[in-house]
Amino acid sequence: MTGKKSLVLGVFLIAILLTAAFIGGCGDAAEDRLVLATGGTGGVYYPLGGAMASIWSEEVDGVEASSESTGASVENVNLVDALESELALVQNDITYYAYNGTEMFEDEEQMEGLRGIASLYPEEIQIIADADADVETVEDLEGKRVGVGDSGSGTEANARQILEMHDITYDDIEEDYLDFDEAADNIRDGHADAAFVTGGVPTGSVTDLATTTDIDIVGIEQDKIDDITDEWEYYAETTIPADSYSGQEEDVQSVAVMAMMIAHESLDEDAVYEMTKALFENTDALEDSHDRGGEVELDDALEGMPIELHPGAERYFEEEGIN
Ligand code: GLU
Repeated sequence: MTGKKSLVLGVFLIAILLTAAFIGGCGDAAEDRLVLATGGTGGVYYPLGGAMASIWSEEVDGVEASSESTGASVENVNLVDALESELALVQNDITYYAYNGTEMFEDEEQMEGLRGIASLYPEEIQIIADADADVETVEDLEGKRVGVGDSGSGTEANARQILEMHDITYDDIEEDYLDFDEAADNIRDGHADAAFVTGGVPTGSVTDLATTTDIDIVGIEQDKIDDITDEWEYYAETTIPADSYSGQEEDVQSVAVMAMMIAHESLDEDAVYEMTKALFENTDALEDSHDRGGEVELDDALEGMPIELHPGAERYFEEEGIN
């Protein structure tokens, strides 16, 4: 080989090495581009998730986070399990079923890569009915056109379970898979009699609906609440206070689950530590995005936690003395 040729070859090799190093560098940067799966735009997860992604992007070095609208809890555990989203907002009951392969996940592999970050706030099961639809009890839903939640939502799982406890199946109703905005639109337009909404009160879509249409919030009878909380441990008895929505004159008895944040186990421990810390140090911004964001508190961060914590979150809570 002549000196000239070996010089050309040398330059060529260096160029390849530099390119490889550059691509490798980009790969590292891409690893910190994180996606948080939320829910429909008319819910609470969506505005809250947007605020969380902003906090992380602004406060955590090397993290660039964005939030995305999804069908909510059931879709979200699947997204995180498949690492299509690194993080998600999810109901704690759904997280438990997914991790253990029970209920709606019975025929699937256990999603053992899911890890808990924090419990956030209770989500009430709200049964909304058109005031003209003659729905005063859950039993009255029989024969009605009912929005049961988006396909892939936790709401839909809750609708099924609560109906089941009242001996009602989808064979006894006309079920429509609707997200909260669609359900509100359909009730407003007379295309649905009622709808299930599992979301923090006040839920945006219901607030908007109540300003234009007379609605009832349908309560669950005490004996059924007892049956539901006995059968599925992540339900808790709750009250939807009067005046949560325009025209709602009385307290309504229902059940609630907890909203929580999950991540995939493969997320870097230090990054998750910093992200958990940033969330609890910026709860003001969460409250600005939705009232229920104001309930995100360190003291309650492990309440109803159904699965193992991510080590990064665990380290932060240990440091803060939260067990
Ligand atoms: N908990 C709801 C679900 O998973 C979503 C609530 C929300 O979007 O705020 O179906």
